[in-house]
Amino acid sequence: MSSARKNAYQDVLHRTSKKFEWEGKISEKFGENVFYEDKMREYLPDQAYKSIKSAIQHGTKIDRNIADVAASAMKEWALEKGATHYTHWFQPLTGATAEKHDAFFKPIGPGRAIEQFSGDLLVQQEPDASSFPNGGIRNTFEARGYTAWDPSSPAFVISNTLCIPTIFIAYTGEALDYKMPLLKALNAVDKAAVEVCKYFDKKVTKVNATLGWEQEYFLIDKAFYNARPDLMMTGRVLFGHPPAKGQQLDDHYFGSIPERVTNFMRDFEMEAIRLGIPVATRHNEVAPNQFECAPIFEECNLANDHNLLLMDLLEKVARKHDYRVVLHEKPFPGLNGSGKHNNWALATDTGVNLLAPGKNPKSNLQFLTFFVNTIKAIHEHSDTLRASIASASNDHRLGGHEAPPAIVSAFIGSYLTTLLDDLEKNIKAGKMTPADKTELKLNIGKIPQILLDNTDRNRTSPFAFTGNKFEYRAVGSLANCAQPMITINTIVANQLEEFKIAVDKRIKSGNGKDEAILKELQKLIKESKSIRFEGNGYSESWIKEAEKRGLSNLKDAPSALKVWERQDVIDVFEKMQVFSKRELLARQEIEYEKYIMRIQIEARLIGDLTQNHIIPVVVDYQNKLIENIQGIKSVLGKDAEQGIVAQKGILVDLSMHMNKMQEYAREMLENRKKANKIEDIAKRSEAYRDTVRVYFDKISYHTDKLEILVDDETWPFPKLREMLFTS
Ligand code: ADP
Ligand code: MG
Repeated sequence: MSSARKNAYQDVLHRTSKKFEWEGKISEKFGENVFYEDKMREYLPDQAYKSIKSAIQHGTKIDRNIADVAASAMKEWALEKGATHYTHWFQPLTGATAEKHDAFFKPIGPGRAIEQFSGDLLVQQEPDASSFPNGGIRNTFEARGYTAWDPSSPAFVISNTLCIPTIFIAYTGEALDYKMPLLKALNAVDKAAVEVCKYFDKKVTKVNATLGWEQEYFLIDKAFYNARPDLMMTGRVLFGHPPAKGQQLDDHYFGSIPERVTNFMRDFEMEAIRLGIPVATRHNEVAPNQFECAPIFEECNLANDHNLLLMDLLEKVARKHDYRVVLHEKPFPGLNGSGKHNNWALATDTGVNLLAPGKNPKSNLQFLTFFVNTIKAIHEHSDTLRASIASASNDHRLGGHEAPPAIVSAFIGSYLTTLLDDLEKNIKAGKMTPADKTELKLNIGKIPQILLDNTDRNRTSPFAFTGNKFEYRAVGSLANCAQPMITINTIVANQLEEFKIAVDKRIKSGNGKDEAILKELQKLIKESKSIRFEGNGYSESWIKEAEKRGLSNLKDAPSALKVWERQDVIDVFEKMQVFSKRELLARQEIEYEKYIMRIQIEARLIGDLTQNHIIPVVVDYQNKLIENIQGIKSVLGKDAEQGIVAQKGILVDLSMHMNKMQEYAREMLENRKKANKIEDIAKRSEAYRDTVRVYFDKISYHTDKLEILVDDETWPFPKLREMLFTS
């Protein structure tokens, strides 16, 4: 066996499980490393605590003196937790989180030092972050951006560092991160939803969007990971013959979790719990070595911080257990990829989930209002929703018959389908009689509170209603949930605003409130009907049907990213004050750039691995065969023919596959050079898609054939069977 592969294999066979046991009760550890409100109350003087709390509630500016007091309290708490450094923790557009650590420690004279942290340092900093993507917003001469404290998500201590969640903005005011626009979108949906709630309950003063994400990932032993340059550099394997046994038997799904993995999970869950991430379920996924973690839902901004934190934690803790975590959407060909379902709903400060059916006609009319408006928003802005999850890595998954198609549609279950169809038909034009109204209300009142069992779950739908929330299933496992969450909350906010205007207009022209709401809902139900689909989203017939309905099918990232420059899209984000046109176009450019870079790196690696790793092995094996053929000939003379049939066949096949592989790799390289010269970034990304990426499958077809022809002893990379089934 090639030495790298052999060593990796040996390492894995001799790996022992690192025992990890919980100490004490989970509930006692929950959030112990987070500076929550109750700790703020404990560490801050009363006046300062009240004024910060009010600033958080109303989103107002925090006074400089108060910030000093808060910083000093935070420092005191963090030092007790063993922190030595602090950092502004932010979410640049790379997709990962960023931090720059500074020590609290400050020398104040010969041999004397103190721990210091002032309000200035808490509230605002200027990280030297000029190399983060900014899409042209910061030219180098004004390459200044700053991070600013987001007091609405609590600070926490991890690895001896106090992390302060912050937004990242340019000095000119534009957002350079995901958090700032998310906060703006959440604010927009809050305002719009509160206004609509007032039709039903005047006591509602705040509506929070809630997010419950489900993170899928693979665990691979670090030895195998490091012996696969493709996995290491691109997050996925670029070649690999699928193992004879993949996931056909579905025997991994919900199966028992191996002890080594359980130890890893316990360890990382303990860390997560300490950081206040409410992780609750753990189970195996469909593919071998694939797992999922789904915490209990939280307010959207906090939930998103927690997802990013958890992705970091997965990496850190996996290393402790000699694993590497693989978050790519499609790391292994022939096996299911990974996604990140985003469960989304709206909750009032009076404790009502606006997307859950209630107890009586009134609360159900409220539920229907938010339900129908969400569907209408998805109908109007399905392309934007699609664009919000576009990436080179997610392209592998969407429409791959294991994940929702690239066509956006909404599934609502048979009960609600019938109900909406009835409302569409039965609300008469013209004035309603009291009897009409009573009958309608009676029907609405009958909606069962627990729809969970009634919504026959459709796993193939990208946007499914699952009883008391919508579940956006097309989000990729690597993604920051913020982008889809910014989008959903913005388009729903916009729709609710329009709804309010329309209903008020109906009321003004003489309709009663309920009648006005019902009539407007009927209109929305009609207009958004084409987005509703209850069938199999993976089927060929749906693609045709969707086309007939006029729904878009933006199959890949370059096609989807075009959406961001559309005037109707810019209008909505500007109206809701979430993005300016400049910010949207900057983001679009960054996404194109990321797409191109990913494909470029993969293409380079394919070139390198085929030339430097695969060809030498194939040539060696050919020489071995030639030697064998010559040997047989020299012994058997003219009777040799029969004895060398197999060898000659293999020799010819090896040449054929190697030639093809080489030819395609050369063509791909030439095309890459041509693509790089294209000035326009959108066109360049299309060229990468159409003239570079198209070679990936062609090349791997031949490398995979070579893998099964060449002597197993000499194949240079750990095989998929070894990586996924050795334990
Ligand atoms: P699965 O998709 O694996 O079958 P579910 O559909 O039951 O699982 O989804 C469970 C997820 O939905 C959990 O992460 C949970 O926190 C989340 N969830 C439940 N209620 C809400 C809500 N009101 N808002 C947001 N997320 C929610
Ligand atoms: Mg789910």
